[in-house]
Amino acid sequence: MEKLVIVGAGVAGVNAATKLVDNGFPGENITIIDMGKDPYRRPYEEVMTGFLGAGGWSDGKLTYHTAIGGHMSKYCGEDKAMQLFDEVITNFKRFHPKPEEVQCSNPEAEPDFIKPYFGLRLFPVWHVGTDYLHEIGKNWYDYLVSKGVRFYWESKVTGINFENNQVEIGKKMDGHFLYYDRLMFAVGKSGIDFGKQLADDYELPTEPKPVQIGVRFEAPQKHFQKLIDISYDFKLYRKFEDEGVSLRSFCTNNNAAYVAVEETYGDHSYNGHAKKDEQYRNNMTNFGILMEINGIDEPFKWSREVVNKLQFHGTGLYYSPTRIPSTTSEGNNVSAYQIEFLDGVREVMGEYFQYIEDFIEDMKKVFPTLKDDWGIYIPEVKYLSPEPLVNYDNLSLIDFPNVHFVGDALSARGITVSGAQGIYAIENLINQ
Ligand SMILES: Cc1cc2nc3c(=O)[nH]c(=O)nc-3n(C[C@H](O)[C@H](O)[C@H](O)COP(=O)(O)OP(=O)(O)OC[C@H]3O[C@@H](n4cnc5c(N)ncnc54)[C@H](O)[C@@H]3O)c2cc1C
Repeated sequence: MEKLVIVGAGVAGVNAATKLVDNGFPGENITIIDMGKDPYRRPYEEVMTGFLGAGGWSDGKLTYHTAIGGHMSKYCGEDKAMQLFDEVITNFKRFHPKPEEVQCSNPEAEPDFIKPYFGLRLFPVWHVGTDYLHEIGKNWYDYLVSKGVRFYWESKVTGINFENNQVEIGKKMDGHFLYYDRLMFAVGKSGIDFGKQLADDYELPTEPKPVQIGVRFEAPQKHFQKLIDISYDFKLYRKFEDEGVSLRSFCTNNNAAYVAVEETYGDHSYNGHAKKDEQYRNNMTNFGILMEINGIDEPFKWSREVVNKLQFHGTGLYYSPTRIPSTTSEGNNVSAYQIEFLDGVREVMGEYFQYIEDFIEDMKKVFPTLKDDWGIYIPEVKYLSPEPLVNYDNLSLIDFPNVHFVGDALSARGITVSGAQGIYAIENLINQ
């Protein structure tokens, strides 16, 4: 029986392991290595690492559409993708302490009042709730451990030898090596540099990716209520085809909505959380205003440089005509340096920042009470490193068919797609 090593105990890796043990694959043959902590010891500050990865402390919204959250249907077709999404959502409900509270919002028509300024993407979303993810993590972890799956925690994989089927685990284990028959590379965004390094070392053929960058917008929820009543996680969008730029509101949080700091490569950028429990209600709304920019040479390098230049005093920036940064659900200030003017940001983001300013100006027209009652955390970024070319039937590398790339390390950008890719990659193994 083959030995499977999964690098990354995030959404993709955990869903893959679950699929295997559910189908009688011996858990003892699965080893999951993660640089973070198990769900019993993972603190709130560690947003990106540990059991369930970035999905473990996310805002728990499971999107249910093949046009959202990254690529799935391009590998396996629409029907199969939706079936895989169902499996991921079922897993989250299965380990949820109150599965009856997982609800689906499904907006049906674009409202007239947002036209002609914006379009609205319509798709269903399942809401799990950030504050339940911790409990889900524990239940899920206990299940995998009970099935014999081995976990290495606080163990950073520092090298992989695709030719000798060998994983090297860094410092903590003192240069320990592990052999695999099959490897799943599921390191998410926190391992994006590592993926890039492997792609360079092995000269893996890749597909170029656009830049995705912008800001996290925050305002009192009342200004957006009319739209939230139609679509909880509304996705306003606009496209400038000739200029290769499109913008969308991304990952909207309401009711108990908190801005979260992400740390990547030592720099701060922003994202958001939604809590479900009434005690956390703050009646705020936050969402990303993200631009997708095509045609930039070396998009990954460009994004990193822009993010790095938007740091001050060791953190990101906050701008508002009237407000100050909010607090986290734990009552701490969101880490951000408040700036009075946007000139420096315009300089760093170049002509692209104008698209964001126009987006905000037009929101003021569509939501007339908004006026100057808003703030932006700068920057929000989705690092998309070049995507390695994979076999479409199991997401394995063209040159190394026993190595599978899945989740954000491949082409996912969300929980449902990451989990679905994890399951899809190992389905062949079950059939064997
Ligand atoms: C604050 C926040 C909110 C979000 N909210 C949502 C949301 O509501 N809905 C949604 O769909 N998506 C959301 N996302 C995105 C979503 O969490 C990710 O798309 C998803 O978790 C990716 O899954 P993954 O398995 O590919 O990677 P992750 O879940 O990120 O897991 C990767 C794991 O790999 C480990 N790792 C990385 N490098 C190494 C290494 N070298 N050695 C050992 N281990 C390593 C990390 O510790 C991590 O645990 C959010 C993300 C953030 C940060």
